[in-house]
Amino acid sequence: MTQPIRAARGSQLTTRGWQQEAALRMLMNNLDPEVAERPDDLVVYGGTGKAARDWPSYHALVRTLTDLREDETMLVQSGRPVGVMRTHEWAPRVLLANSNLVGDWATWPEFRRLEQLGLTMYGQMTAGSWIYIGTQGILQGTYETFAAVAAKRFEGTLAGTLTLTAGCGGMGGAQPLAVTMNGGVCLIVDVDRTRLDRRVHDRYLDEVADSLDDAIARVRAAKRERRALSVGVVGNAAEVFPDLLTRGVEIDIVTDQTSAHDPLAYLPVGVELAEARDYAAAKPAEFTDRARASMAKHVEAMVGFLDAGAEVFDYGNSIRGEAQLGGYQRAFDFPGFVPAYIRPLFCEGRGPFRWAALSGDPADIAATDRAILDLFPENESLARWIKLAGERVAFQGLPARICWLGQGERDRAGVRFNDMVASGELSAPVVIGRDHLDTGSVASPYRETEGMADGSDAIADWPLLNALVNTASGASWVSIHHGGGVGIGRSIHAGQVCVADGTALAGQKIERVLTNDPAMGVIRHVDAGYESAREVADRTGVRVPMTEG
Ligand code: NAD
Repeated sequence: MTQPIRAARGSQLTTRGWQQEAALRMLMNNLDPEVAERPDDLVVYGGTGKAARDWPSYHALVRTLTDLREDETMLVQSGRPVGVMRTHEWAPRVLLANSNLVGDWATWPEFRRLEQLGLTMYGQMTAGSWIYIGTQGILQGTYETFAAVAAKRFEGTLAGTLTLTAGCGGMGGAQPLAVTMNGGVCLIVDVDRTRLDRRVHDRYLDEVADSLDDAIARVRAAKRERRALSVGVVGNAAEVFPDLLTRGVEIDIVTDQTSAHDPLAYLPVGVELAEARDYAAAKPAEFTDRARASMAKHVEAMVGFLDAGAEVFDYGNSIRGEAQLGGYQRAFDFPGFVPAYIRPLFCEGRGPFRWAALSGDPADIAATDRAILDLFPENESLARWIKLAGERVAFQGLPARICWLGQGERDRAGVRFNDMVASGELSAPVVIGRDHLDTGSVASPYRETEGMADGSDAIADWPLLNALVNTASGASWVSIHHGGGVGIGRSIHAGQVCVADGTALAGQKIERVLTNDPAMGVIRHVDAGYESAREVADRTGVRVPMTEG
């Protein structure tokens, strides 16, 4: 236990330089009660994703960063500072490796055993690498997915379309707002009324219907009028989805974010919500069988909508696999969201670019929002996001923004931000980072690298090269993690953060890192045989030796 943690604000240094200051403020920001899920346990998000291994490690991190020189690098091993090395001013100030295990040992039980011994911690993606910015990240990612659905199938807008989904929880609750931000109508089903009410309170969901009939009437009217609207309805998706299919409701897009990845967290048909937890604990095998049988019905209806012509996709919750285990054979008839919509963006080096204002002043983010609109006037989806985010997103901790930018764009934005710090247009430096879920920084065969064209889904050299090139290019801190997003044994990924402090040196580093980092994604996809990536490489001057000569 400790006092609530809150990063310093303003332009006064508490350390020996802005790179160290940025790392310190972002470590503390991850643990700010406005940002972290369980700050007392050092848990930032994603179940058990931590910013530091334990409290002594946290205090040692703070102490070391406060005193760290401009030619030194602190090494962090799973949330604990383990060394300080003499390096040079282009080197990162912090290098982090979190949760990594040798292949045959990379299982949850072995990880938990080592964690209990105090030897490791689970770093998720941006928890252990100090660049989590709250729920804006999932909202923007979900917005981007639905924008990609619109671009692929509905001429760039969801206006006049109806999306059916389920699961209005921690992450899934971003879906209704992401759909309405794209102009569409969303019907979201959840067994738990409190989940729907909470999202109405947060303004992520517009309204909750009294019954399924009422919900259908509301969404039909909105669709007809091409009016953006989200409606929640209480029910079990395994019953409501087949019901909607039978009634012939005109649904254009179908997905799902119930907690299907864990059959003990998916409510089977015929089980009361209030008794689910005790039942799952008492009879886990029976509960699992029933949950999988319900998921089979749920997914069978999704395939029914697919057969009827709807756009249907799995949203990264493993419901296809669970439905197959439940005995439904056609579960994999519809694709996962990455191969369906996100991979074409990854081929362009496009991914979740984010930044935070170390001043703590929302006016700095407003100024950077204007700079983004000014830099990329032709990108309508980006403009819509920036405008709506300004209106709808409440900051958690240090003010921050996220948007997806591609090869040839991120470096321009970063250099502009650095110039704005230099000119005094921003009142203090900004940090520029990203999620590890990015174009060239993750190997995750159930998610980001599912179904690669050349079958290279599980090849994990790419994230390692990504970390190495960012280290060589001048990033302020660089991390290599294992198990983020989909769990131990299932992913390896890397992150980088740069600090725009307004100096000429920072400008040079930012230009290199924000060129080379997304270029890793471009070359990864050229290598896997994606033609569009090759076009981007040619257009933006990314060199790929095997295609030369
Ligand atoms: P959560 O546990 O907070 O929410 C799940 C919701 O599903 C709950 O509100 C619960 O009441 C509801 N639910 C459970 N069974 C149901 C049923 N039979 N019918 C209707 N509703 C039911 O989980 P979360 O953090 O929102 O994540 C949801 C899922 O999405 C997880 O499986 C997660 O792994 C996945 N996810 C994927 C991505 C991605 O990359 N696309 C991102 C985040 C989360």
